[in-house]
Amino acid sequence: MKLYISCDMEGTAGLCSWEQCDPNNTTEYPIYRRLMSREVRAAIEGARAAEPCDVLVNDAHSRMHNLLFDELPSDIRVLSGYRKALSMVQGGDEGFDGAFFTGYHAGIGVERAVLAHTYSPNVLYGVRINGVECDETLLNAAYLGEFGVPVLLLTGDEALCTSARKHLPWVRCAQVKRSTDYYSTDSLTPAAALALIAETAREAVSCRAEARPFRFTGSVTLDIEAASVEAADYMALIPGFMRPGGRSLRFSAPHYVAAFQALIAAMRIGRGGADRA
Ligand SMILES: [Zn+2]
Repeated sequence: MKLYISCDMEGTAGLCSWEQCDPNNTTEYPIYRRLMSREVRAAIEGARAAEPCDVLVNDAHSRMHNLLFDELPSDIRVLSGYRKALSMVQGGDEGFDGAFFTGYHAGIGVERAVLAHTYSPNVLYGVRINGVECDETLLNAAYLGEFGVPVLLLTGDEALCTSARKHLPWVRCAQVKRSTDYYSTDSLTPAAALALIAETAREAVSCRAEARPFRFTGSVTLDIEAASVEAADYMALIPGFMRPGGRSLRFSAPHYVAAFQALIAAMRIGRGGADRA
């Protein structure tokens, strides 16, 4: 099969602080990028225990060049670099049979969810599609769903897994930790997490016939709650964006891909307003 992996970092076992996933940090980050890379490798090895897989990995955290190549299988491809126009789903298209989201985290506003946010928390407070509150998992699953690609596996904390099962009941979840607060977790050790991820990935690929592409069908309404009025000032410049409130923006799109593209554009342009002089 052809497997697409979007890998984030906050959901890595043991990780509980921004320092641990901040590329500017020279003490903690090097440790956790190695653990992140090993979790990606465990997911690939688990998938390949079920069937042969061609793998494309999209490094999707922060500057998007976190993965350590010496920790990865030698026969995969990796999308690295910041920024990528389609961000966490760059390169995801109809050429894939299934997707894994590793190291993912819950959406902004969820309690007992370590480092929970939705894309750029400095400009984005909330996102709804057709009234459905969306986190990164759902936004990205819906993008891949437009190309017929189902999400098979998620790895991260309990809050992530609980949220995802509401909309993606087929998804296999490797729950490597339980968040006890925004900045604290009760976690498996890295070694135990790698074993769990590999076994869950094997199951996810073995049972992939049960999985479905997640889709928002037909025309969609995108509602954005900006984090600040000044970010919203810039988002509102985008042609077609309405502004029902100071921090509220609305965009009607003919299909979900257009709504997703509009969301990415709004985040990028919103930064222009959110930056402090
Ligand atoms: Zn991240």
